[in-house]
Amino acid sequence: MFDYSARPDLLKGRIILVTGAGRGIGEAAAKAYAAHGATVLLLGKNEENLNRVYDEIEAAGWPQAAVIPLNLETALPHQFDELAAMIEREFGRLDGLLHNAGIVGPRTPIEQLSGDNFMRVMQVNVNAAFMLTSTLLPLLKLSEDASVIFTSSSVGRKGRAYWGAYAVSKFATEGLMQVVADELDGTSRVRANSVNPGATRTDMRAKAYPGENPSVNPLPETIMPVYLYLMGPDSRDVNGQAMDAQ
Ligand code: NDP
Repeated sequence: MFDYSARPDLLKGRIILVTGAGRGIGEAAAKAYAAHGATVLLLGKNEENLNRVYDEIEAAGWPQAAVIPLNLETALPHQFDELAAMIEREFGRLDGLLHNAGIVGPRTPIEQLSGDNFMRVMQVNVNAAFMLTSTLLPLLKLSEDASVIFTSSSVGRKGRAYWGAYAVSKFATEGLMQVVADELDGTSRVRANSVNPGATRTDMRAKAYPGENPSVNPLPETIMPVYLYLMGPDSRDVNGQAMDAQ
């Protein structure tokens, strides 16, 4: 596991947007950020999941979160603009953005992968991350110290048979991260890096590996050290890196 111990007030006063915050790794990250003092903006498709996470953050006595229901597969450009306008109006800036939402899509050979399925995966995993990054960068640049974290995968660093659109989308995610990081390098207080969570006990992992005993993989809460490190001030000088949670 990535070796880092976050102090309790690491993210005090920070405004952090987490996509896919209603379950899995995104839920764990949203709660870890809130537990370390951040106001977390919970974005996801399923509003019920987001409301549950909101309630749990409130019950724990952490800073009050905000719920942002948005389907990243169907969201139109004006909805990203409206999101940025809302964040500017309510918070005045953004200190962190975790691109975590993702889908696997069919695990079939490329020859049998339909264009619709390919584009659906690219829409959620890549196009939405581009739209969010592009529209929210002006708000991130208003922060004293801002961090953008992209979520990759081992198949986003070396292609593997039958991982189809998902693997391609994760290579594109690394590419987007590298381009953004290079543009930001030395010109702003915003940094961008990627994290490969590694095998983690979530719905996605269970769907991708139906025959696997889920208990062999760590719970999302246990892979949080790298997510905290990259979101907080201790990684201020880290930019353009592809990191591993485990
Ligand atoms: P889950 O399937 O458990 O959760 C996926 C999350 O993405 C949910 O919060 C879901 O929101 C959100 N999401 C999916 N589609 C949309 C959409 N159209 N609009 C908005 N939100 C959406 O996945 P994990 O927690 O396992 O994965 C999180 C990230 O980590 C992903 O990027 C994944 O590729 C990556 N990863 C995971 C690994 C693992 O072993 N688990 C390994 C390597 C990488 P909702 O609840 O609203 O549907």
